[in-house]
Amino acid sequence: MADENAFDFHSGWAYEPAPESSDHVHVADRYELFIDGEFSAPTAPSYFPTINPATEETLSEIASADASDVDRAVASARRAFPSWSQMPGKERAKYLFRLARMIQERSREFAVIESLDGGKPIRESRDIDIPLVAQHFFYYAGWADKLDYAFPRGAEAIGVCGQIIPWNFPLLMAAWKLAPALAAGNTVVVKPAETTSLTALKLAELIADCGFPNGVINIVTGAGETGAALVNHPDVDKIAFTGSTEVGKIIQRAVAGTNKKLTLELGGKAAHIICRDAAIDQAVEGIVNGIFFNQGHVCCAGSRLFVQEAVADEVVAKLKMRMESLIVGDPLDKNTDIGAINSVGQLKTIQEYLAIGRSEGAEVYAPEIALPKKGYWCAPTLLLETAQSHRIVQEEIFGPVLAIQTFRSLDEVVTKANTTPYGLSAGVWTQKGTKIFELTGKMKAGVVWANTYNKFDAASPFGGYKESGFGREGGLQGLQSYVK
Ligand code: ADP
Repeated sequence: MADENAFDFHSGWAYEPAPESSDHVHVADRYELFIDGEFSAPTAPSYFPTINPATEETLSEIASADASDVDRAVASARRAFPSWSQMPGKERAKYLFRLARMIQERSREFAVIESLDGGKPIRESRDIDIPLVAQHFFYYAGWADKLDYAFPRGAEAIGVCGQIIPWNFPLLMAAWKLAPALAAGNTVVVKPAETTSLTALKLAELIADCGFPNGVINIVTGAGETGAALVNHPDVDKIAFTGSTEVGKIIQRAVAGTNKKLTLELGGKAAHIICRDAAIDQAVEGIVNGIFFNQGHVCCAGSRLFVQEAVADEVVAKLKMRMESLIVGDPLDKNTDIGAINSVGQLKTIQEYLAIGRSEGAEVYAPEIALPKKGYWCAPTLLLETAQSHRIVQEEIFGPVLAIQTFRSLDEVVTKANTTPYGLSAGVWTQKGTKIFELTGKMKAGVVWANTYNKFDAASPFGGYKESGFGREGGLQGLQSYVK
């Protein structure tokens, strides 16, 4: 193994481990629950493996929390709440700033673990996910001592917040929930997704090192039952959930009739609209980023493409050519464009949708690329000749699969774009400023991008309409979800 301190006489620079190398990250054989400021074993000795989806190898085993463990975590958060919520905001901010700095210092390690455990390309975890994680903590640390300014009529922390995290952006979604909750004075119990617990547990190590008061942040790992135990716990004041619409509905029913506050960030089926006056080459890059970023495991992915008829042939031809150059493979290789599908279950779902697409009459196109033998992989795929009524156009596939339709008039595309149960995001490409305002204003979606796609910032609120959920994360609006 290369010595980190070795001096390379040829280049004159101290040896730096390659960012894509997993040699310098430590993944323990087993992870326990993080409750009351320390790691502790689950009451029932139950553990589940976490797998590298690119190799199918077990990375570690993770504790599975049952209802009694969730109860311990909630009790610990409850004990920590009075002093944390009454601590001056500028003091709470110090903890958050410290955590943000430590994440930056350890960002390389976080990026490698995120890619190992979840399958996403290292270029994305290194350049997008982890920097945004740090940005969120910095951003909300900045609000912690300005709550009187943000909420002039007064605002109090809600209490104990249960936060349920999805597997597509494991640490980033945890940061989106943790940072505003903590800045506003809440204490939390976080439940990572079962296929991607590692970065949250790594974060627990930093939380302990930062000296956060015990119980302010608790992390309970496990599958849906652990999440349900958190949702149903009588002493939880708020649930924040990001995940499937199906589970979102279960949670909504579970909290109905209780005093619990709820925010839901659910599925999407975004319309990505290419007008005939768009800058076509840039638009093609936007389409690629819109659907193939993070293997299409993105709730705001531009998964329904609408191309104006006059440029449809050109766009599709250029898109196919671009897809041939995409590199699918080892998530730790910095040249990889599309990594591994997160789990075997998700791969099956995507394959089922491809079969449904064929049976509905869609033409399926995928470039001929050799996929690795082991692991879970899906080539970037287009579904052409699709119609509004097709399931592959209406339902979220959550993979690198793009359904394409054409349109003639703007009225037609607005109607088609909005005819979906979802309303999370949309994208518009046109060189005409007035058309940007006209089209973006008519999209029934929480986030609308123009001449770009999948851009995120901590200061910008994110969230949906209709079956995509309610409540916003990010920005001042994200803070609002954590005060009363
Ligand atoms: P997907 O279907 O894409 O796997 P899910 O919505 O099932 O996404 O998962 C998102 C998160 O919700 C995960 O952390 C998962 O463990 C959790 N979860 C699943 N079922 C439930 C449930 N009934 N109650 C609470 N949380 C759940």
